[in-house]
Amino acid sequence: MYGITKHQLTYDGTPVPQYPTGNMGGTMSPKFLVIHYTAGPQDAHGTAKYFQNPASKVSAHLNVGEDGTITQSVPFNRVAWHAGVSSWAGLSGLNNHSIGIEVINPGPLERLANGRYKSWWGKIYSDDDYPIFQATHKSGRPTAYWIPFTEAQNEVLLEVGALLMNNYKLNEAVGHDMISPGRKTDPGPTMDDRIYIRLNGGLDIADNFGDYIINVNLLNVRSGPGTSHSIIGKLRKGNSVKFKDSSGDWLFVELENGSYGYIGSKFATKK
Ligand SMILES: [Zn+2]
Repeated sequence: MYGITKHQLTYDGTPVPQYPTGNMGGTMSPKFLVIHYTAGPQDAHGTAKYFQNPASKVSAHLNVGEDGTITQSVPFNRVAWHAGVSSWAGLSGLNNHSIGIEVINPGPLERLANGRYKSWWGKIYSDDDYPIFQATHKSGRPTAYWIPFTEAQNEVLLEVGALLMNNYKLNEAVGHDMISPGRKTDPGPTMDDRIYIRLNGGLDIADNFGDYIINVNLLNVRSGPGTSHSIIGKLRKGNSVKFKDSSGDWLFVELENGSYGYIGSKFATKK
């Protein structure tokens, strides 16, 4: 069973493998959980070693391998360098306000002429071995092939994620692509949205599920929850959208064409 002692993750009372790094800032009181994929060739140990290299200038609190192996790079009460330029819920520079979890995953894959798939660093994947699927990122790009987080990784996100949410009284679990929209695509389609919903308490959001009808003549669909985010589509009065999530006064919805985006909540009425 997982636990937390002195801001380290433990399993049955023993800390998970610790890889101390200088790639960190001062103390903080985290308010959010930020989920990433690595899009790199390393496993949970190799990723933690990379985060020990001062030249990499990056780190995360936890790294989760395909088999569920967890390594820790930064104590939960210290700033890790995982979010970069980011903003959420009125705060910016989310490194100072969040715990970051890196999930080992190759990110978007390219389909080759021979029917196999290639990561950006050249590793070849076959859909005999992985449940590869095609999807467009909810921000509108890229359309690519993806490998979902493994069952072991999902279990860690739910179990350790819930432990962190409760222990540190975190406000919300979010994806890097939500706090750095347009700049980042992780975790994107690799992560099942239901993990956010379960970590974030589900029930409030569940009340909002269903179809919404657009109630203004013309409505912009944006890549993020605010008018500063780019316009990625238009809706007309009477169009129907499916609720997926909310962020303040914005709804994250699925459009009739299967793409995703954000709309102002007052311009849509629940069916
Ligand atoms: Zn990231």
